[in-house]
Amino acid sequence: MKKISLLGATGSIGIQTVDILRNNLDCFKLVALSSGKNIEKTREIINDLQPELVSVQQEQDALQLQKEYPHIQFTFGTKGLVEVATHPDSTVLVNAVLGSVGLESTLAAIRMGKTIAIANKETLVTAGHLVMAEARKYNVAILPVDSEHSAIFQSMNGENPKQIERLILTASGGSFRDKTREQLKGVTVKDALNHPNWSMGAKITIDSATMMNKGLEVIEAHVLFNMPFEKIDVLLHKESIIHSLVEYHDTSVIAQLGTPDMRVPIQYALSYPDRLPLVGGNRLNLAQIGQLHFKEVDFDRFRALKLAYDAGRAGGSILTAMNAANEAAVALFLEEKITFLQIEEMIEQVMNDHQNILMPDLETILHVDSETRKTVASMVK
Ligand code: NDP
Ligand code: MG
Repeated sequence: MKKISLLGATGSIGIQTVDILRNNLDCFKLVALSSGKNIEKTREIINDLQPELVSVQQEQDALQLQKEYPHIQFTFGTKGLVEVATHPDSTVLVNAVLGSVGLESTLAAIRMGKTIAIANKETLVTAGHLVMAEARKYNVAILPVDSEHSAIFQSMNGENPKQIERLILTASGGSFRDKTREQLKGVTVKDALNHPNWSMGAKITIDSATMMNKGLEVIEAHVLFNMPFEKIDVLLHKESIIHSLVEYHDTSVIAQLGTPDMRVPIQYALSYPDRLPLVGGNRLNLAQIGQLHFKEVDFDRFRALKLAYDAGRAGGSILTAMNAANEAAVALFLEEKITFLQIEEMIEQVMNDHQNILMPDLETILHVDSETRKTVASMVK
């Protein structure tokens, strides 16, 4: 029986994680969870899985829930995320919170020796060197939840990582993959939220449309698999059936395939090194699909991807600046305060103005993160 702490339980990944836990009560027990402002959903999960500790974003919600559930412990805010992540009974942290707010709780859980199943890619982008250094120090496994990284991880099983020639991340291209840059000028939030293959949270759906998501994933792959950027490629593959590939120095290429269903990589991170049957899973029928398509990426068309490679190659605090600028700009776009193309313009502006600090410590990262958010906010005034 694995005991689980779950950050971001009410989100897209969080709800699918809860689904897996509910379907495998003999394997997993949810001991602690965090949510944000969705209190109705939080109640549903509490009623269902009876955790011992729950953290919400706001104090008044914690006080209200405490009255309703006197036998459960409630907490709130950033310190609440850390309490959930470090609950003494859990051995695994599933981090499915959104954004760099997940960083400190991840570091705290690593220091408690917990296995980390990480969906929260912003944490690995903003502070990958700190997370991986702590993971090595405390001998903790960081297991990918992101589908591409899970595919790479599965394609490396039993292989010698020194014999890898390159990692190939597949990309669907997002909701605007067939539009030119000219056509991107008039797109709306509603258009951008309409992803062809995956149903996900709003922020990552916008990231997919700008391709910043793939940029964050290139950096995530660099961090998780210790691979230089020249050995990480992106390949457009509109069907999202091949979830990523690993090429070895004998020219063999190993890939992981499946229908687009995030429960597969989430469950694999939970059950690893075993596999569990996926309740309600759709089996892959290649004969029915018939054809798979591949195309080279155009870095002029997908400028955010180019910016992410630039930040990744530079390393240092520019990664934090880029990530925070993206988080802030995407939030502004979702509030309809800026246009779609302004997202990457703002990121580029922030990166051009940034005074890079190599190997930043946690304090520097948190400072750059909050200053960048203020800078982006001031750009719209
Ligand atoms: P969602 O927006 O659907 O969910 C985010 C979760 O985090 C919710 O539980 C939300 O609470 C909570 N949350 C948001 N902000 C805060 C905050 N400031 N403090 C505390 N809790 C907060 O996101 P996704 O599930 O789509 O994505 C989560 C992470 O997983 C992201 O890093 C994303 O990149 C990554 N990921 C997602 C994939 C997907 O398919 N969705 C695929 C691969 C990676 P509430 O809703 O209650 O306010
Ligand atoms: Mg992904």
